[in-house]
Amino acid sequence: MLCLAPLARAGAHLMGARITRRVLADGRGICTWLPSLFSGLPRGATFNARSARHSSASTAANQNTPSYSYVIVGAGSAGCVLANRLSEDAHESVLLLEAGPKDMLLGSVRLSWKIHMPAALTYNLCDDKYNWHYHTLPQAHMDERVMYWPRGRVWGGSSSLNAMVYIRGHAEDYDRWQREGAQGWDYQHCLPYFRKAQSHELGEDRYRGGSGPLRVSRGKTNHPLHQAFIEAGQQAGYPFTQDMNGLQQEGLGWMDMTVHKGKRWSTASAYLRPVLSRPNLTAEVRCLTTRVLFEGKRAVGVEYTQNGQKKKVFADKEVILSGGAINSPQLLMLSGVGNANDLKPFGYGATAHLGEWRFIRGVPASPTPRHPFHFLPSQVIDHGACPQDGGLPGFTWANEKHRVLPCVQALAGMIFAQQAFQPLPRARAQPGRGVQTAPRSDAFRAAQADCA
Ligand SMILES: Cc1cc2nc3c(=O)[nH]c(=O)nc-3n(C[C@H](O)[C@H](O)[C@H](O)COP(=O)(O)OP(=O)(O)OC[C@H]3O[C@@H](n4cnc5c(N)ncnc54)[C@H](O)[C@@H]3O)c2cc1C
Repeated sequence: MLCLAPLARAGAHLMGARITRRVLADGRGICTWLPSLFSGLPRGATFNARSARHSSASTAANQNTPSYSYVIVGAGSAGCVLANRLSEDAHESVLLLEAGPKDMLLGSVRLSWKIHMPAALTYNLCDDKYNWHYHTLPQAHMDERVMYWPRGRVWGGSSSLNAMVYIRGHAEDYDRWQREGAQGWDYQHCLPYFRKAQSHELGEDRYRGGSGPLRVSRGKTNHPLHQAFIEAGQQAGYPFTQDMNGLQQEGLGWMDMTVHKGKRWSTASAYLRPVLSRPNLTAEVRCLTTRVLFEGKRAVGVEYTQNGQKKKVFADKEVILSGGAINSPQLLMLSGVGNANDLKPFGYGATAHLGEWRFIRGVPASPTPRHPFHFLPSQVIDHGACPQDGGLPGFTWANEKHRVLPCVQALAGMIFAQQAFQPLPRARAQPGRGVQTAPRSDAFRAAQADCA
């Protein structure tokens, strides 16, 4: 059995993605991702390899090769949770393979401050020490710019690099998934799991958890610009909300953060490091998984490289791919699972042809609030990354200018024009009053907009 662990929330923006780059090289050259690869796997999809066609790369288990009940690829947000929960059962053995290093100082049990100190957020976005450091292809709708696309490559994965904002997403999105066929993913079904995962510093209620491993605290700031933003939003006609993950999600309010006692609370902190002493859990680092091994129609293990050596490991029960929204589909392609037409030009035979699924559907006009709007009183260019020489490939903005961005830009303009901002010293505002017409606004966004 082959499972795709819950794909990243960030995956919501992957529609129509086209990626090349920073290849998980397996000696067979570069792998180019094509839109159709992303065209199908619903979030949290479970792909049962039993339905796959026979692999030409089929591998028989060899007696000297280690085997575990579960082999998990990727110790990121999803992988750490899975490693913890699956190893709760002492009868099962779990192997967790991570391409990056531990989230600690080299050779020490001390945590890396660059990861665990929230204010150090942008440090890891400047280099590829803990970061896959992806870049996109030139984007047609973004002035042909190459966009920077960071992803975590370390224990905790992107939760060790991210901005620590705790937002579950709108309840209606979950209900829509259920309506569209993802049985069991409606909000009422997911809520007990959100609560089980969480320990909110404000205590439990109908929506918040009080005793889970994921520590969440209410954002704390006395910055006058934050206060002005919330006031201005109300002056613009939006409600104040006490809890954007609670009953009333629409409105402006203070964010919840995966921060505990001043430290980042990644999934490695919440789920992995506390259970490392379990004898049935093995967590390996600097192991790049390069291929899923199939026996007939069944995924039976993976091949990976560690210290320059190629190794194999087998799973009696499941191979779980939790390498993130970019790497898991890539690993499937490297294993011959994907659209046969996409794989052929790169010399990969198709183990399983996935046809023309859709990864995430386009966003039709929605009756519910769709845009999480974060206010940050600083200017961040390129995620704070240092400028790069040369361009590397990435993903396509699916004609964003016709959808979300104009709406968000108009909303920002309306909020910043409110009375609450008037007493504050005037900084140079972009795009400024001169950029009011649609063509000039489009040009501004194409030149300046970025994504997370
Ligand atoms: C800069 C940034 C800011 C963000 N800010 C927020 C935020 O504030 N709030 C929020 O909710 N979300 C945020 N996100 C998104 C969020 O962090 C991700 O959606 C989430 O962490 C993805 O979880 P995942 O388990 O799918 O993948 P990841 O957490 O990325 O984990 C994947 C892991 O698999 C490993 N891996 C991949 N391929 C292989 C392989 N072949 N072999 C072995 N290991 C492999 C990777 O190294 C990584 O450790 C942000 C993301 C980034 C990058």
